[in-house]
Amino acid sequence: MIKTNGKADDPEEITMTPQELQLLSELDSRQCGYLLLNNPDNAKKKTLVLKAVKYLQLMVIQARKQQKAQDTDVSNTKNTKSISIDPKTWVKLGHFHLLLEEHRKALSAYQMFYTAQAENHWKDTAFLYGLGLVYYYFNAYQWAVKVFQQLLYVSPNFQRANEVHLRLGLIFKVTQDYQSSLKHLQLALADNNPCTTEKDKIRFHIAHLFEVQGKVKIAKEKYELLLREKSLSNPLRADIFRQLGWLYHCYDILGEKHQRIPSAISCLQQAIAADPCSGQTLYLLGRCYASIGKVHDAFIAYRNSVEKSEGNADTWCSIGVLYQQQSQPMDALQAYICAVQLDKCHSAAWANLGILYESCGQARDAYACYLNSNRGSNNRGTVEENLASKAPKTALPAIGMNPHLTQRINFLQTHLSSGPMPSITNSRRQLLSIEEAWNLPISAEMSSRQQQQTAGAGNNRNANSQSFQKNYNPPGGGNGAAVGAAGAPQGPPPPYPSPAACPTKRFKPETPEKSSPPTTTPSFYLNPQQQQILQCLQQQNPATLTQTQQTTLQQLQQQYRLMQQHQQQMRNRQGQQPPSSQNQRPHNSNQQYKLHQPSLTVGPNMPGGGQSDLGVSEEDIKDLLSHKDLATALAENLLKHFGSDDIKEEPSLDPLSTNEFSPNHHNDSDNKLELDVKGVKSKSKSKSPTQDILAVKNELPWEMESLNSSGKRPESEFNINMDAKMIIELCRGEGNKGEISNSLISDHAPPPAAPEPPPQKLNQQQLLPPTPSVYLDNKKHAFSPQLQEFCLKHPIAVVRGLASALKLDLGLFSTKTLVEANPDHSVEVRTQYQQPSDENWDPQSGRKVWSCVSHRSHTTIARYAQYQASSFKDSLKAEGDKTSGSGYNLSDSDSKDSTGFQRRKKGSLPTPPSNNVKNANSPKTLKFGTNVDLSDERKWRSQLQELMKLPAFARVVSAGNMLSHVGHVILGMNTVQLYMKVPGSRTPGHQENNNFCSININIGPGDCEWFAVPDAYWGAVCALCDQNQINYLHGSWWPVLDDLHKSNIPVYRFMQRPGDLVWVNAGCVHWVQAVGWCNNIAWNVGPLTARQYNLAIERYEWNKLQSYKSIVPMLHLSWNLARNIKVSDPKLFALIKKCLLRTLRQCAMTLEFARGKGVDVKFHGRGKNEASHYCGQCEIEVFNILFIREQEKRHVVHCMDCARKQSANLEGFVCLEEYKLEELMDVYDSFVLHPAVPASNEAYRLPS
Ligand SMILES: [Zn+2]
Repeated sequence: MIKTNGKADDPEEITMTPQELQLLSELDSRQCGYLLLNNPDNAKKKTLVLKAVKYLQLMVIQARKQQKAQDTDVSNTKNTKSISIDPKTWVKLGHFHLLLEEHRKALSAYQMFYTAQAENHWKDTAFLYGLGLVYYYFNAYQWAVKVFQQLLYVSPNFQRANEVHLRLGLIFKVTQDYQSSLKHLQLALADNNPCTTEKDKIRFHIAHLFEVQGKVKIAKEKYELLLREKSLSNPLRADIFRQLGWLYHCYDILGEKHQRIPSAISCLQQAIAADPCSGQTLYLLGRCYASIGKVHDAFIAYRNSVEKSEGNADTWCSIGVLYQQQSQPMDALQAYICAVQLDKCHSAAWANLGILYESCGQARDAYACYLNSNRGSNNRGTVEENLASKAPKTALPAIGMNPHLTQRINFLQTHLSSGPMPSITNSRRQLLSIEEAWNLPISAEMSSRQQQQTAGAGNNRNANSQSFQKNYNPPGGGNGAAVGAAGAPQGPPPPYPSPAACPTKRFKPETPEKSSPPTTTPSFYLNPQQQQILQCLQQQNPATLTQTQQTTLQQLQQQYRLMQQHQQQMRNRQGQQPPSSQNQRPHNSNQQYKLHQPSLTVGPNMPGGGQSDLGVSEEDIKDLLSHKDLATALAENLLKHFGSDDIKEEPSLDPLSTNEFSPNHHNDSDNKLELDVKGVKSKSKSKSPTQDILAVKNELPWEMESLNSSGKRPESEFNINMDAKMIIELCRGEGNKGEISNSLISDHAPPPAAPEPPPQKLNQQQLLPPTPSVYLDNKKHAFSPQLQEFCLKHPIAVVRGLASALKLDLGLFSTKTLVEANPDHSVEVRTQYQQPSDENWDPQSGRKVWSCVSHRSHTTIARYAQYQASSFKDSLKAEGDKTSGSGYNLSDSDSKDSTGFQRRKKGSLPTPPSNNVKNANSPKTLKFGTNVDLSDERKWRSQLQELMKLPAFARVVSAGNMLSHVGHVILGMNTVQLYMKVPGSRTPGHQENNNFCSININIGPGDCEWFAVPDAYWGAVCALCDQNQINYLHGSWWPVLDDLHKSNIPVYRFMQRPGDLVWVNAGCVHWVQAVGWCNNIAWNVGPLTARQYNLAIERYEWNKLQSYKSIVPMLHLSWNLARNIKVSDPKLFALIKKCLLRTLRQCAMTLEFARGKGVDVKFHGRGKNEASHYCGQCEIEVFNILFIREQEKRHVVHCMDCARKQSANLEGFVCLEEYKLEELMDVYDSFVLHPAVPASNEAYRLPS
């Protein structure tokens, strides 16, 4: 126990028993969620942890004091004494705070560790885990993802990998990266290690994931399957029923309405039975009733919902709809106002309110509402919107959003600006203006709370407003939930937002007064009577007020505004504590998901005068060293530390909000966390030379794992000059430890990171460099080695006139020929918006965005051909119409479009048919026929034969092409794919799979426009994708050129004409749009160069980090290369040999581990052209040693890590071996560096 006895603040005065120290040494982030220190049962442990925290804090304080003393002693002289705080102190402090659920302090401490240990921080997996949990807790998703990915990369077999996968799955669900989400949730589910979240709940998340993607039938099936589980907890059962009920309500494909709605109601009622407290469920029930006209039942359900969950904007919006349908505009108005006060960005409520105003002839108010609605839908970031992991995405209410919102806005704008509409001047105002309604004190008839305050002031509100209570009065008046018609409160009030709960209430910016905090209520405050009078006056038609009444009204309004401003100021003053983020853990269900920036103003609690009579002395530590139970690592640690000089402390004592790892470091006004790769990666070496490094005498009393203590054989002992036997020898005994790295780089390499872009600032010209291009006159040119050299030298190159130089018959790939050859052949279709090539607009928000809509479907060549042809004919017709003067002038308000969407018409598209009508609200879509597979030699013989005319380096198959050595088909990479286009068809931005080069020939007749960024800048492009919350690897994105320029990223831009070949070099980022109607053919090649191989391996590792499948099996390929080719380039040789070495090691260790577990390894061999294997769980390539288990009647290959997660001792798995170890050893030893041979392909032979 910590006693306070005056002055002692020396850590040495805190004592702990060896048992306690042992216990503390075992605590870290991995116990988070398992060891609940705030549970009364753990009171003793909590006390101990608090004591340890105290100890560490005192230690830090003492070190700093010493430092300060020394600084003043020897100012101006370089100090040789040094005090350092072991960085591990910070990480331990972080763990303790985490376990104590003090997340801010935990984050602060972890950040201190990061600052001190930036280059090696990733070696401490418990640190990564703890930091990830804290980021996750604060909804700092991008940061959490980064840290968790590093953790899984460094330690795929991490004890809490399932917790990590679960959180990644939830984060990606929130950020709408559904593909990644599903993958991680399934990995969490497949892992049989203990998990804080029950498996049924993970299944629920998976089902919900399908729901949010609109995959209704799958979601329904999965929900129903889950409901069969006997052991479901009530809350989970309620969740499932609620979602299922809502599915029935929303989706036609689940049946006829007269069947669906009763099913929906039944499900929702079962949900309420399982969890009677869910306001959300009651709300949805109300929606169901409303949809079948059961107004009374709907009102009751809404009413109950309002009681259960205070402040739900959706509910108020729906209540408004109901009133509006019942022709009660006043009540509707108030309900909508309630909704938008609760959620200023509630688009539907704003839109409905606008409609309401318009219906009452109040155009100005309607206009304002529509603008707000529009803004609301813009503001709702992708993240916020559909997430509440449980709460169903709420569809718009029945009379919901005007689909022509923008049109209405334009219309009203035009008319308002051209003078008041006759209808406004003539008709009496029926409703309060928005401002009046907004600023109206919470109306008495809708808040009995208010009513109690104003009781006795008379009840002169109009009768219309009373209907709320009347309608809400449940039959029989049973629940006491409603307020009687007479206005006397009979039950709990409907929870309207109280001023305090609604700090964002006002539209107008505050006009700050002089701040002298008044202790009494200022004189301008309205008393209840005055408020009543104000309301009364405000509700009357201004024209009918007497002069006195008008004066009174103005005065009261003035006072009211002052009062509100004052209240706001008071709230602001009070509200400066950090946002409460407690109880907001995303897996806890109902809370909002937002990317908000944790504001880290709170440092670790460093008590200045904390007292204690406890201490750990040097003697204690020595005692500990001899304590048998403590692992020797402690001693090693301590000893190592005494001599260590590489650990230094940042002298900044104001730690926690300023270092680069801190989200606060980036002052992003949008309050969004940006993942700053730079900040994370390269904090570090820079130590100010003037900083004195102080040595500390304090050591940590408990054991901590050293960052480098994996216990593995140092990797430096392995090198590519060893023979295979030696390598196998060195592996002996290592596999049994179970820590088998699958990195192709090194056991100790940091996780891969995107490269920094070249630093030099580019000028305008350099930002738009000329595209390297070459014109071919004849066949000789095409076959000259210079052409290949030219291509390999540049990030991207256009070879013009290739087709005619080689006399290629491009007609073989024309739509006409394709239809004749294989009309029923499958075509993948992407439905996209028509856009100018250098812009990408989001039709919903009217903003330039990166995310590029591209929906997938399928058709046949014949049908696509028909579409392509009719699109062309329509265009000709439209051109004709245009010249004859008709067909345009459709738009009356382009220039006034506030959304900017119509600016797209400035683009110089060749007006394909779909683009003629300039309607901002329905951007035209087009269909892009993509990924047509031409691999089948029987179907496409003549086409494929024609391509043999190409020079070797560009051919689909050649000995000098790595991809020809894979030994099996990788569709679209070592086979030909065809693209069928209409103008505007887009291939979004990407690098090729595993950074291979690609060849693309335009068949014509139209052109294609290309954009390309050199590979050196891919990291910068990736960072921009992150900023735009879109997945770089599998997201569909179209870079905003301005963003690239601002980020100093150069872009090649050029036209590819019919017959031109585009060479995309390894790693080049590119995106393409068709200018005219055309077809293209494309495939990948892998020149046998060190650069190509290296980039492929780098991407292979990056994909691993990102949990993205590498479709080029680099392990398998490397072994085939070793068998098939003679390498004379020392660099390429070393790279391949290294990969062989790492896989050979991995195989030997895996075999040893499996045999150690008593698994019988069976030789299986490999079939000819057999595809490479990938893990059925994590999709990593599995080379040579396969762990097989039957799953849903299929034999599924697993990697060793996934197998162990299902069964620690590999029980139930069959282990197959594809190559004998001797064979691999032989290949390894035979792969040697050859003397240089004259440039020819004879050194290569293709696999037979
Ligand atoms: Zn796996």
